[in-house]
Amino acid sequence: GTLMEKVLQRRSLQMRNMQRAWEESPEGKKMLQARMFLPAFKEKERLLQAIAQNQVIIISGETGCGKTTQLPQYILESEIESGRGAFCNILCTQPRRISAMAVAERVSTERGETLGESVGYKVRLEGMKGKNTHLLFCTSGILLRRLLSDHNLDGVTHVFVDEIHERGMNEDFLLIVLKDLLPRRRDLRLILMSATLNAELFSNYFEGAPMIHIPGFTHPVRAHFLEDILEITGYKLTPFNQIDDYGQEKLWKTQRQLVPRKRKNNLTLLVEDALSQSSFENYSSKARDSLSCWTPDSIGFNLIEAVLCHICRKERPGAVLVFMTGWDDISCLKNQLKAHPLLGDPNRVQLITCHGSMATSEQKLIFEKPPLNVRKIVLATNMAEASITINDVVFVVDCGKAKETTYDALNNTPCLLPSWISQASARQRRGRAGRVQPGECYHLYPRCVYQAFSEYQLPELLRTPLNSLCLQIKSLQVGSIGEFLSAALQPPEPLAVKNAVEFLKMIGALDENENLTHLGEYLAMLPLDPKLGKMLIMGAFFRCFDPILTIVAGLSVRDPFLLPHEKKDQASTAKSRFSAKDYSDHMALVRAYEGWKEAEREGCAYEYCWRNFLSAQTLQAIHSLRNQFHYILKDARLLEAEASLNNRLSHNQSLVRAIICAGLFPGIASVVHRETSMSFKTMDDGQVLLYANSVNTRFQTIPYPWLVFGEKVKVNTVFIRDSTGVSDSILILFGDGLDNGVSPGHLKMLGGYIDFFMDPTLAESYVNLKQELDQLLQK
Ligand code: ADP
Ligand code: MG
Repeated sequence: GTLMEKVLQRRSLQMRNMQRAWEESPEGKKMLQARMFLPAFKEKERLLQAIAQNQVIIISGETGCGKTTQLPQYILESEIESGRGAFCNILCTQPRRISAMAVAERVSTERGETLGESVGYKVRLEGMKGKNTHLLFCTSGILLRRLLSDHNLDGVTHVFVDEIHERGMNEDFLLIVLKDLLPRRRDLRLILMSATLNAELFSNYFEGAPMIHIPGFTHPVRAHFLEDILEITGYKLTPFNQIDDYGQEKLWKTQRQLVPRKRKNNLTLLVEDALSQSSFENYSSKARDSLSCWTPDSIGFNLIEAVLCHICRKERPGAVLVFMTGWDDISCLKNQLKAHPLLGDPNRVQLITCHGSMATSEQKLIFEKPPLNVRKIVLATNMAEASITINDVVFVVDCGKAKETTYDALNNTPCLLPSWISQASARQRRGRAGRVQPGECYHLYPRCVYQAFSEYQLPELLRTPLNSLCLQIKSLQVGSIGEFLSAALQPPEPLAVKNAVEFLKMIGALDENENLTHLGEYLAMLPLDPKLGKMLIMGAFFRCFDPILTIVAGLSVRDPFLLPHEKKDQASTAKSRFSAKDYSDHMALVRAYEGWKEAEREGCAYEYCWRNFLSAQTLQAIHSLRNQFHYILKDARLLEAEASLNNRLSHNQSLVRAIICAGLFPGIASVVHRETSMSFKTMDDGQVLLYANSVNTRFQTIPYPWLVFGEKVKVNTVFIRDSTGVSDSILILFGDGLDNGVSPGHLKMLGGYIDFFMDPTLAESYVNLKQELDQLLQK
């Protein structure tokens, strides 16, 4: 063979020696023993054979049976054992970055290695992978990105697509691309892994590919619904008509907002009805209404607290897993529990949070045994439903909701709403309690509500805007977007595709013929929402990179400003201190971040965060994302080598405002002043409200005719989150213009920015032009 082949052969022998040495070591033997207990082990030979004989197979099995950590590892081990270790290249995708990292870490440990040797991971903007890595866990997004430049996946021998039952957008997208690739790569093996039993769907999609089920064993879990929980805990809800909401009223009044008062104690209503009605159909319409907008609020928290107390006082040992909707209510609940005499006592209870962006140190705690006589309580998002298995869980508390994006193609509005989970999810959550012994599950909703849940969740492809996806399809060069997507397992509505294409045209990423523009090519390369990618590029181009970098990082992580239920007023006041008179949440973010950096230098970051209701963890995440984006732009040669050049105009407030506008457009609302109040209207004439902690709620008037905003969120009414006031001229030059009056020419200009990017004089003249126009409009 060639020299290359000889090198690989030598390397394969080394790999085999190392593997055998580990298998014969005492620790290695112990590890193998433990792995042999997993249900997947019994199917090992059958699986290896099926994979050798078929190009595509579908594997299903209970969560925790060993699909993710074992199956790719079996292939790696058998390839190494047969002396072909260095020739194989196994990819295994995960829907979430955190599971890719956690699993890679686990598999390395099981192989007696450190991360980055034969096993590695790669997630957005981060990775741990060496030249001898032959099993790589990555997010599905990463594999898609790789397919952009490497259409045939050269050198890859096996692809595992994990958690396909979740029907995530990236997974559905990947399946279209891989299905298309299979005939061109006859030697490539595709293995699909799924938790629940809708394997036939995927088998049919791949022309009847064989299915293998790993029978698992779980202990029975007793389900308690709300009516039972009230009995068990003795928790009393205040009757509906006795609730004083004077406090609420006062809060809203001070904010001079048209926010409808919070509905009265939804949970109470719900329970009253639940106890008197036997089926969901019999619910009063009022109760149904309040039911749909119930999320764990302060009343729900008290109930959760009561359940947790009951478990800690009366129940047998075992960890507790609490399913919440998102990071915000997890942190609110955690704060409340920390103040509790029993639950907040670290000698008796270990409180751990588990969500998409937690720190690695916290991640490890999740899997570890707590100290003796300490009960582990994990507050988690639906991430803990299937991708992460916590072995010692005996009790599950399920709030019944999950934050999911829904997308209304007709109104072209994405909404991020906590909505009821499906029956499949509820069962899955319940099942988490039966891993080691019989368990208990507390569902915080009446039994009849559970019966009204839909059976499965709608695939993500059908409930999210397709902007980013369409951009990626374009850069895959696979022809028409619509045609490509029609090959999906369940194709999205044509209207949703049309909206996305129009959006991409509007921001200048596609030209009239749906071809990628120069800007579009760059945007497809950035691992970011196209809007934010554009803002970042514009920030670099207009030499005000630093503040824009902070804003983009902030918008792609989450809001670092905390809004605890009990201290909403103080928190909003603290936030408004960061926004002198800029009428901008985005600028407040920049100031808060910069203040934090300074506080860090002075060693008082903790106090700083505490005083200002800021999350240190989020600021840290923003900080590292900033570095990563910075690196990517530098790598793409979109930045000057000398940093000061990129920031020459960073202090120019109106320029920064303009770039925010350019990025967030068409997220625009007009400010309508009335005598005593303001209201806000979006382009499509929809009324929107400001989110409670926006700095713009603090003013009686806003001296700007427009607000640009990043996202609209529908929670009963439509809210806009972070907003920034902008002038007419900014909107004309950097947005799409008013009433589209000036749009076509300026649109071209937006797309054309990138072409004269490297010429700083042009940037400057543009700024001058903007100032001229500003003056003109003021006359
Ligand atoms: P599946 O993919 O089928 O849901 P996994 O392969 O993820 O199952 O997990 C198999 C087993 O390995 C589970 O019992 C799980 O608890 C255990 N496990 C996974 N990750 C870790 C870890 N980081 N530390 C300890 N045990 C782990
Ligand atoms: Mg798994």
